[in-house]
Amino acid sequence: MPVPVSQMWTVASYVIRQKLAGRKQYPLVLMLEPLFRCNLACAGCGKIQYPAHILKKDLSPEECFRAVDECGAPMVSIPGGEPLMHPEIDKIVEGLVARKKYIYLCTNALLLKEKIDLFKPSKYLTFSVHLDGQREEHDLAVCREGGYDIAVDAVKEALKRGFRVTTNTTLFDGANPKSVRAFFDEMMDLGVEGMMLSPGYSYDKAPDQKHFLGRARTRRMFRAILSNRKKTWQFNLSPLFLEFLMGKRTYPCTPWGMPTYNVFGWQKPCYLLQDGYAESFKELIETTEWQNYGTESGNPACANCMVHSGYEASAVNATFSSLEGFLATVKATLFTKYEDKEALRMLEEPQAPVNPLIQIEPSQSATHLQETRA
Ligand code: SF4
Repeated sequence: MPVPVSQMWTVASYVIRQKLAGRKQYPLVLMLEPLFRCNLACAGCGKIQYPAHILKKDLSPEECFRAVDECGAPMVSIPGGEPLMHPEIDKIVEGLVARKKYIYLCTNALLLKEKIDLFKPSKYLTFSVHLDGQREEHDLAVCREGGYDIAVDAVKEALKRGFRVTTNTTLFDGANPKSVRAFFDEMMDLGVEGMMLSPGYSYDKAPDQKHFLGRARTRRMFRAILSNRKKTWQFNLSPLFLEFLMGKRTYPCTPWGMPTYNVFGWQKPCYLLQDGYAESFKELIETTEWQNYGTESGNPACANCMVHSGYEASAVNATFSSLEGFLATVKATLFTKYEDKEALRMLEEPQAPVNPLIQIEPSQSATHLQETRA
């Protein structure tokens, strides 16, 4: 099942309205983090290292609705932490569906089967299940044996009940392109609507600092993975963003395109960095020194970044900024196979054995918090 036409039309007409209004800095997706605690402790994650009193905090549904209304973006991504650990996640989703927002509820799916009765299938709600590759690769990335099987089981259940389901995959240095391609086959065979991809960001707080990708390595890896593409693969991403990952296009970062709201307020400048907070979306837009961010700025924190939350909005903006951008998107969607002999050869290169990421027990505080809030 492809992305519903109504969603494509909502997003396209929203972007065209922003363009006609001459608005240069407009949000496309609100990254709404209603909590930071999680029932996993992935080695590449920089979101869960807060002290217990912060991990205990939740945004209330009213705070979420205020942020969504203030921002006005047509899509809302709910990452975290693990959103299914939020005691009122069902109310938050219900309120956003009532506002006709297209929601991507990002979950590791460990609690999905248990909590699925809280939700009703809707064209506005998609479970975006975090899966970082085939069984062995995923379990290593999330530092939890059996995590892949639980997530796949939950995906099947959600699909059986008529929910929209996508996958959400973060790739780190050492990812095996052949295995990633086999993973795409597995996911499409499961029946998910589409797949989202991003290179990992080098969070300085993440426990594993050895497996983050530089830009050149990112492009090489995605060239190997995404060239000679199978027709069956569906991606829930702008085709121009995929070309950006493959090194076929360059874009400046658009950090305001996916603004982040969490228990601290509106995060400056983006989902990944924390250079202060604003009390309102207007204040975020007006007071952030945007020129200090993005690869071209020379900011070392941005030097290797190619992540989805910084650059997909750039790709979408490019689609609607010129006839060339629009035609390139149509061509990439309908006609391009990305045939590339060198990329085929790269798939046969010997791979280093899967290098175990740091193994971490889920933090006791997170487990405890989950129990006390169940
Ligand atoms: S380049 Fe990456 S880290 Fe820097 S502002 Fe953009 S999204 Fe944030």
